[in-house]
Amino acid sequence: MPDDEYTEVLTIADRHAREWLNSVAERPIAASATPEEVQAALGVELADEGRDPADVVDALAEAIEPGLIAMSSPRFYGFVIGGIHPAALGADWLVSAWDQNTGSRLPTPGAAAVEELAARWLLDVLGLPAASGVGFVTGGTTANLSCVLAARGHVLRRAGWDVERDGLHGAPRVRFLAGDSVHSSMVLAGRMAGLGAPRTVGADHEGRIDVDGLARALAEGEGPAIVALQAGDVHSGAFDDFRAAIAIAHDAGAWVHVDGAFGLWAGASPSLRHLVAGYEAADSWATDAHKTLNVPYDCGIAIVADETAMTSALGAHAAYLPLPGAVADPYDHTPELSRRARGIPVWATLRSLGRSGVADLVDGLAAAARGLADGLARVPGLEVVNDVAFTQVCVAAEGDERTTALADGLLADGVVWASPSRWHDRAVVRFAVSNRGTDATAVSRTIDAVERVRAELAARG
Ligand SMILES: *Cc1c(COP(=O)(O)O)cnc(C)c1O
Repeated sequence: MPDDEYTEVLTIADRHAREWLNSVAERPIAASATPEEVQAALGVELADEGRDPADVVDALAEAIEPGLIAMSSPRFYGFVIGGIHPAALGADWLVSAWDQNTGSRLPTPGAAAVEELAARWLLDVLGLPAASGVGFVTGGTTANLSCVLAARGHVLRRAGWDVERDGLHGAPRVRFLAGDSVHSSMVLAGRMAGLGAPRTVGADHEGRIDVDGLARALAEGEGPAIVALQAGDVHSGAFDDFRAAIAIAHDAGAWVHVDGAFGLWAGASPSLRHLVAGYEAADSWATDAHKTLNVPYDCGIAIVADETAMTSALGAHAAYLPLPGAVADPYDHTPELSRRARGIPVWATLRSLGRSGVADLVDGLAAAARGLADGLARVPGLEVVNDVAFTQVCVAAEGDERTTALADGLLADGVVWASPSRWHDRAVVRFAVSNRGTDATAVSRTIDAVERVRAELAARG
């Protein structure tokens, strides 16, 4: 007999979780069921009568599994997807069990305390200004938006306009500038913040912002400006020249934001830190914990050097909420009032890894990417088309048709998942290394799979 109403359901969830986690590295990566098939297995109409929670969870796990993709496989390179650190997973389960609405320090001192430590440690390992405001949001997209909102308020305040009180109607126009390979989430952030899409100022082949183009664009106009730089291009992994770009932008009075959803973590590695040299002089940074840090979904991090700019844009002080004190409340740093304690799995991962473990994690991903690039470059007919600076590797075969066939063949083969993409008007297969489990063995199995699929394609003609 269960001793309480949670024991049985948690036991079943625990069993399914462990079966999944223990099989995820070897199961075929692609899902085998369509959404419609999963729905049919679950039952499409809501039943009138209820059902025991443990039975519901058991049936859910059975029905959904064919529709799950093995995203945390060490040979999953699609999009930019992190694996699962065990400390993060354990802490994340407890976050659900504790069910703390982490908005305000007063009622949830424990959750706020742990998030504040996670924030302090993040700034420390990344080498960013220690007094920055940090918000734990859903992902890089919301982190970019949060930072752009802080930036918008700040640059308009300096232009004599209070956007937080008066809105954007009638406000001076805010110039929003970025390099040509700006991530789509930055475009979304500009749109949601009422700035529109960024004006692009050029980029080099690897996607690094054209610094002269930025200088020209800033010189052409006047008034408030926000410049979005990038740490880690999704195709090449390239980093903007932060020193040069930030100096130019600051000379023009612009706010500088860095989108570093995965690339910001180069700052946590002594051997890769040179890639982000000078980035600490920016005004805000966005990153993800669910990518490079291998925290389960979802967790993004918004960082703003001038904490007041963040609390002015995002703070909420309804009459029934505790008055703003000397220390900001969690909800002063995010767009939400109510949310789960996302910073707790971040704390657990940082504590489990330690400073050196974080550096090793980042170094390991970059080393695996280099190993992958070396191995793939030796496969006859394949070409690595980017400079592998960090964790991204793009390959092309002899023409778009064969590249696309390789991408499709890999997906059907099931051992490796990589993203079919286009880069510089050319089909590529993109490998993003972001899983802590992607070691030398995973890399060599990946190269074997690519060779096998190539041979099968060649045999078919
Ligand atoms: C993934 C990514 C984002 C968006 O982050 P989400 O967590 O998916 O919202 C933004 N910028 C870059 C460079 C990314 O790789």
